[in-house]
Amino acid sequence: MVHALDENIGSLSHRSLKFEELFHETTASLRKLLGVPPEFQIFFLASATEAWERIIENLVDAASFHLVNGAFSRKFYETAVKLGKRVSMHEVEDGKGFYMPGIEVSDEAEIICVVQNETSTGVAVPTHDLYYLKKNNPEKLLVVDMVSSAPYLDIDYEFVDAAFFSVQKGFGLPAGLGVLIVGPKAMARSKALESVRPRGTYHSFATLERYARKNQTPETPNVLGIYLLRHVLEDMVTKGIDTIRKETDEKYVLIRDAVINNPKYHLFTADEDMRSHTVIVLEVEGGSRPLIESLADANIVVGSGYGSHKLNHIRIANFPAHSLENMRSLITRL
Ligand SMILES: *Cc1c(COP(=O)(O)O)cnc(C)c1O
Repeated sequence: MVHALDENIGSLSHRSLKFEELFHETTASLRKLLGVPPEFQIFFLASATEAWERIIENLVDAASFHLVNGAFSRKFYETAVKLGKRVSMHEVEDGKGFYMPGIEVSDEAEIICVVQNETSTGVAVPTHDLYYLKKNNPEKLLVVDMVSSAPYLDIDYEFVDAAFFSVQKGFGLPAGLGVLIVGPKAMARSKALESVRPRGTYHSFATLERYARKNQTPETPNVLGIYLLRHVLEDMVTKGIDTIRKETDEKYVLIRDAVINNPKYHLFTADEDMRSHTVIVLEVEGGSRPLIESLADANIVVGSGYGSHKLNHIRIANFPAHSLENMRSLITRL
């Protein structure tokens, strides 16, 4: 942030050559870090919530299908309802994962929406299950919310048509920037729909693509956010994505093993294969509030439970910005 002030990023014109370089460098680093193929577009939005809306607007004419197992996947579903689509879903209880062979995707659905890492409950969809869904529904577009699992999540883009995140979770940045990755089939689909009627205004995929080709954005974007993302990405590329993923797994195992035999805590996601490594949710005997307060006294901030779980759960973020030492002091306190 100090460098951003030195470089006058706060007054950088988004039509300048320097901005175009910033856009280009940031998207190039994203491609390198996340393995995004060259034929995929990368767009900057305001948030992941915006990505839900843009995806429904740009990729759905009539009907969408959703996997729902918590608050965020439900909100994605509700976005499609509010935009007037015919919406169907497969829902399981909070804390549970999906059994893919048991899922019947409605015939009319044009897209399948999956929140890969349900931040409200700490349940993750294994990537082989995502690919199973796509292989069994090849004519439908598969859209993946990876807000609280990027950059840890290792996606094979052969099976995914669009994916998105916002920067305040796994990238450890101030909020206010969303990143949307759109594959060629999704681009083609949005253009075909656009020829029938406009798919929104400045953030239709066609408009986003027209500007992205010039390394620009349609509107004045969060230039500072993009600048900060660029530098965090450079750090991550230098460190190496394999190391980041390995460290995330190690910190996860440390926490899991610390609580698994402690009668005070229960891992909310019982199934090891479905348990998120980046958002670890614990049910706390007798309620979570005193624990959250006692951790706060030690300068350790954990999330409360989400929605109806507010008073019973804690949610532990295990992002690249959280060091092994951070996790060790958390475990000592627990
Ligand atoms: C936080 C979160 C969102 C919303 O992100 P915003 O940047 O606040 O719009 C969407 N999906 C998941 C899974 C999240 O964790």
